[in-house]
Amino acid sequence: MAATHSTRMLILGSGPAGLTAAIYGARAGLAPIVVQGIQPGGQLTITTDVENYPGFADVIQGPWLMEQMQKQAEHVGARMEWDHIVEVDLSSRPFRMLGDSGTVYLGDTLVIATGAQAKWLNLPSEERMKGKGVSACATCDGFFYRGKKVIVIGGGNTAVEEALYMTNHSHDVTLIHRRDSLRAEKILQERLFAHANIKVMWNREVAEFVGGGEPEGLVAVDLRDTVTGEIQRLDTEGAFIAIGHSPATELFKGQLELDKDGYIPVEPGTSRTSIPGVFACGDVMDKHYRQAVTAAGTGCMAALDAEKFLAEADFEAKPVRSLQEA
Ligand SMILES: Cc1cc2nc3c(=O)[nH]c(=O)nc-3n(C[C@H](O)[C@H](O)[C@H](O)COP(=O)(O)OP(=O)(O)OC[C@H]3O[C@@H](n4cnc5c(N)ncnc54)[C@H](O)[C@@H]3O)c2cc1C
Repeated sequence: MAATHSTRMLILGSGPAGLTAAIYGARAGLAPIVVQGIQPGGQLTITTDVENYPGFADVIQGPWLMEQMQKQAEHVGARMEWDHIVEVDLSSRPFRMLGDSGTVYLGDTLVIATGAQAKWLNLPSEERMKGKGVSACATCDGFFYRGKKVIVIGGGNTAVEEALYMTNHSHDVTLIHRRDSLRAEKILQERLFAHANIKVMWNREVAEFVGGGEPEGLVAVDLRDTVTGEIQRLDTEGAFIAIGHSPATELFKGQLELDKDGYIPVEPGTSRTSIPGVFACGDVMDKHYRQAVTAAGTGCMAALDAEKFLAEADFEAKPVRSLQEA
């Protein structure tokens, strides 16, 4: 028969947000269970050098950092479950989740830390060149392209912000967009067009990423003209794909309030969602910063909010007199 696990704090996701919530939850004596999902350790396990997580003077590796966070969470008493949640019922407490393994998880509180995945172009050459010149995060990787010629692909706010950000590192930034106008806010467009170091190539999409050298790195992209179909090669050493993110919230549709892009809105300054006892942290509720340290910060907030929620619920469940007698 399938197992049932109950906990005071159930955490979905084992990226920086989920594991930080686990560290705080465990240290508050809540014996959290972390359901790790299909990507234990989260997005940082698919990158190499991390230079912006505080506390490390040397460059560290993403997978190593996540291994340390998991060990720390386990050391203070959190339990990891290698499972992926496929069904949730948030209609009453304890909240009920069903894992892919058939295991049922019951949580007096729920911390959602399921992250968001960057959208990619899905070209085989893109897959091969990820981490070798192709990235989906200029804030994370831009520093590695100091003084190099780079491109940013996309036409929305993120693409324009990433192009502007890259001018901190490069004097030669080209924005590639498959249409002849941008979707980004007007004010961002004005800043982009006014910048001397940014060019825009309209009606172009990437047909192929071209590698070269030893060890292999990006040397060029083949661009297809979306009007004429003509292919043109553009030399570049860095390509940032900025075509959006998909928050992992499919599971919660119809049960929890989501915004128009599928992110979980929280009460400002907290991790509280539309359902009391359900908290959200990390990239699943943050479409602006999307960094490991901000995910960890909001993970801490979620655990503290959950702990406070349980303390208040316990206090209400026990009349004051019986507390005094105890
Ligand atoms: C290539 C790359 C490089 C990056 N480099 C940096 C960097 O240098 N510095 C930096 O600060 N940030 C970097 N980032 C961004 C950073 O990785 C994210 O901001 C951070 O990982 C978000 O943490 P999170 O915990 O919110 O979510 P994630 O790390 O996305 O973790 C989500 C977790 O949820 C789990 N999950 C999803 N669905 C379910 C489910 N149904 N049931 C159970 N579990 C589920 C997944 O398995 C995963 O464990 C990078 C991102 C990428 C993609």
